Amino acid sequence: MRQPRKRASESSGRAEAGRDPRRKVPSLDRLLESERVRGWEERWGRDLVKEALRSALDAERDRLLRAGGGTFRTGRVLEMVEEKLEAAERPSLRRVLNATGVVLHTNLGRAPLAPMAVAAMEVGARYSNLEYDVELGARGSRYDHCDGLLRELTGAEAALVVNNNAAAVALMVNEFAAGRQVVVSRGELVEIGGSFRLPDIVRRAGAELVEVGTTNRTREADYREAIGPRTGLVLKVHPSNYRLVGFTEEVPLSGVAAICRTAGVPVAHDLGSGLLRPELLPEFPPEPGVRASLDAGADVVSWSGDKLLGGPQAGVLLGRGEAVARLRRNPLLRAFRVDKGTLAALEATLRLYRDPEQALREVPVLRALAEPVEQVEARAGRALARVRFDPPARVQVRRMKAVVGGGAFPGLELPSAGWMVEGLPPEEIESRCRAGTPPLIGRVSDDRFWLDFRTLLPGEEGEAAEALQRALRAEANEAEANE
Ligand SMILES: *Cc1c(COP(=O)(O)O)cnc(C)c1O
Repeated sequence: MRQPRKRASESSGRAEAGRDPRRKVPSLDRLLESERVRGWEERWGRDLVKEALRSALDAERDRLLRAGGGTFRTGRVLEMVEEKLEAAERPSLRRVLNATGVVLHTNLGRAPLAPMAVAAMEVGARYSNLEYDVELGARGSRYDHCDGLLRELTGAEAALVVNNNAAAVALMVNEFAAGRQVVVSRGELVEIGGSFRLPDIVRRAGAELVEVGTTNRTREADYREAIGPRTGLVLKVHPSNYRLVGFTEEVPLSGVAAICRTAGVPVAHDLGSGLLRPELLPEFPPEPGVRASLDAGADVVSWSGDKLLGGPQAGVLLGRGEAVARLRRNPLLRAFRVDKGTLAALEATLRLYRDPEQALREVPVLRALAEPVEQVEARAGRALARVRFDPPARVQVRRMKAVVGGGAFPGLELPSAGWMVEGLPPEEIESRCRAGTPPLIGRVSDDRFWLDFRTLLPGEEGEAAEALQRALRAEANEAEANE
C-alpha cells in the first residue's frame, strides 16, 4: 500500500512536495493504531476496516488537492468510515415505517402481514409436511394446503395457488389458448405497475391476442363476432388501476359467460385485487368480490394474495373442478410454483377470514382501510402529546388524504390524519427521515412534509415520532456545521 502513495508524490513534482496539501493526511498505519479503529477491527475484521480507511483517505487526499489546501478533519473522516462500515453490515432488505398514506404501497412491499401470518411463516422455514401426507406416510401435494379453506370461503369447486397473479394469468392463457386465440376487450388491456402488460403476457404465454370493441365501448356483438374456431379463451380483466368514465359500455361478466357457454369456449376473469369479503368495507364503492365473479359464471378467476386480501405475494386461482384440474397438470405450474413460507402465511391469513370481525381486527390492510378517520386522528394526537420538537420545526396534527394503492379503488381518497411538519425545507426533512434507522417514509406536498398515520402499523406511532425527532435534530446539527 505504500507503493501507490510514493508514485503519487513523485508525479506531483519535487519542487512542490513541500506545499502538497495531501501531506496533511495521516498514514493508514497511524490510523490503524488508534484506539477507536482497533475497536472496529474486533467488530468488522481487519481487512474490511483497512479497505474502508484506505478509500476514505484517498477521497480526503483528492478533496484537499482539489481545494488546494485545507485541514484534515480526522474526526469527520473516521465518522464517515464508521457509517460506511455500518452500512455494509446492514441487510439490503429492511423494515421501513410507511407514513405515506398509500395502504398497498408496491414499492414498500404491498400488504404487511397479520401477526398470525408472520408466525406461520416460521413453520414454512423448517421441515414441514409441504409435500407429505403425514397420515398415509406417502407423498402429498403442496397445492392441497390452502385448497380446503379457499373452497370453504369462496364456494369455488377447486383452488390452486401460484407465485403471483401475473403467473396465474399466464398459466390460464397458456393452458386454454396456447397456439390459439385469447379474446379481450380493448377497454381491459391493462398495464399494472410497469412490468405487467396484458398483451405481452398473452403473447409470451403462447397465444394470439384478439382485441374486441373500442377503448371506451365493448358490446355483446363484439364478443360474438370475435369468437370462432380458433378461440381458446375469453379473458375478462378487472381494470383495477384506472377507471373509464363518460361515454362507456362494457359487457358484464355474466353476459360474456353466457356467450361463451353457447360457443363452448371457457371464460377466465383476472380480478386483480380480489376482495374476499366486500361487506367488510361498506363505505367503499362496489368492487367485484371473488364470489360474485364465480357466481357470474367464470370458469376460472385469478387474483393477488398481497392486495386487498392482505396476505403474502401469491396468485390465487379458483373455479370449476375440471378447469382447475387442467391448470394443475400444466408443466408451467412447476415454474410458477408457490413457496412454502407463502403457503403458510396465506393459510393463516385465510383462516382469519372465517370470522369477518377477526379479519377486520387482525389483517393490517383491512384495518388500515376501515379505521375511522377520528381514530387515526386520535392516534396522531396521542403520539404528538408525548414528544417535543425544537424550533424552528413545528409539528401539528392535520387531516389529509390517503389512498388504497396497489391498483385497487383508483381515484378513491380515504379521509386520513397525521402530522404536518413545517419550519424547515420539506425535501431536507424527507431525505433525513429516509436516511434514518428504520427509514421513515413520508411525503412532500404544498411545501410541507406530511406523515400519514393511517398506514403506520399499530404500535409504530412512537417509533415514527422518535425517527422524526432524530431527523430534525440531524437537520439542526447540519445547519450549525455549515455556519
Ligand atoms: C395486480 C394485478 C395483476 C398482477 O398481479 P401480481 O400479483 O402483482 O402479479 C394482474 N392483473 C390485474 C388486473 C391486477 O390488478
